Amino acid sequence: ALEPVQTSVPTTLNTRVPLVTGETVEYANLDHAASAPCLGAVRAAVDEFLPWYASVHRGAGFASQVSTKVYERTRDVVRRFVDARPADTVIFTRNTTDALNLLARSVPRHTSVVLFDTEHHAALLPWRGANVRRIETPRNRLAAVSAVDSALADCPPGPRLVVLTGASNVTGELLPVAEIAAVAREHGARIALDAAQLAPHRAISLRQLDVDYVVLSGHKLYAPFGAGALIGRSDWLRAAPPYLAGGGATKLVTAHDVVWNAGPERHEAGSPNTVGVYALGVACEQLAGNWDAVVAHEHELLAQLRRGLADIPGLSELRLFDDDGDRVGTISFTVEGREPGWVAAVLSAEYGIGVRDGAFCAHIATFRLTSGTQALRVSLGLGTTAEHIDRFLLALRQIVADGARWTYAKPDGSWAP
Ligand code: PMP
Repeated sequence: ALEPVQTSVPTTLNTRVPLVTGETVEYANLDHAASAPCLGAVRAAVDEFLPWYASVHRGAGFASQVSTKVYERTRDVVRRFVDARPADTVIFTRNTTDALNLLARSVPRHTSVVLFDTEHHAALLPWRGANVRRIETPRNRLAAVSAVDSALADCPPGPRLVVLTGASNVTGELLPVAEIAAVAREHGARIALDAAQLAPHRAISLRQLDVDYVVLSGHKLYAPFGAGALIGRSDWLRAAPPYLAGGGATKLVTAHDVVWNAGPERHEAGSPNTVGVYALGVACEQLAGNWDAVVAHEHELLAQLRRGLADIPGLSELRLFDDDGDRVGTISFTVEGREPGWVAAVLSAEYGIGVRDGAFCAHIATFRLTSGTQALRVSLGLGTTAEHIDRFLLALRQIVADGARWTYAKPDGSWAP
């Protein structure tokens, strides 16, 4: 059931892609942290649903009834997926960025926000107007917990929120979420978990972690683009102005007044992405029933990847923390003397391997850990096979040993081996 979808479209997963030589090879997608290809079960479910999508909450016709039921039922699926408390609200958004911006617009005035400076930009940037304390991320997890403790102790009285990623999108390392949540509690602070990278790899329990909010994206969870969610305590969200003004968010509009909904619809104005939401829910159900297999697959392939990378000279892995802890299957590194964009272009054109290069929407983290350069990122997922990793390792060895064989140029001519 957890097989990613196989299709004949030449640019999707597990199908053949052309190389510069004119040959074709099976595409090795090692960029799951950016977006994970659709699971076969998700695709089948969406296919079945497509004839029935219609306007939710707005029509009496059968298709509207089906859509409304699917949409509302998915709130429960997502609630279960993160083991939320019964009173927690589930608001559908476009993605994690949208969910974090919604939360940022909903915190009470004068909320103090505490976060690490190495967060993804989606978590780092939306807090304009709040009293933001950015902590320079310490080099080990214990110190990270103490740093949050000290930052919270320094906050003025009033509401406080800690924003924390569950897994780094740059290094794959897991953050000490439960420990930081416990510290947040001692200071009367709430905590929001950015689970964009954690949710595809590990079961999440809001109750066990004692976390107040969690945000995630469907397209990183093996569903197509377009749907994400914010799940958590409803009081701030009920009190906040609607995220978007428009139909669906209102109870009643008169010539002089608007009565806004209090429930999740308050922040979901406009016709929602019912197909995307359904796909997100099916993906959650698929993962939730298969965590042991998902984690075992990842550990095995990650061990293979790490063994192979350790043998390649001139590689420096990016790590937030010096201490070893659990991590997901995402590794970023630099290659001495080789520009990341160029390495990524060679991997694609010569070997049919897709990786990410750049600074991963986490500029502070990436540039600090590389001392100012961009990096390459390899990220594993359910579609990854041992053959993909072998091919990647072989390719990288060749690129490191004999990169001058290939000349690729950006339009400005700036790439050189
Ligand atoms: N947070 C983290 C940790 C991420 O990795 C990402 C996506 N790269 C986001 C937030 C933003 O997700 P989206 O682009 O789906 O809004």
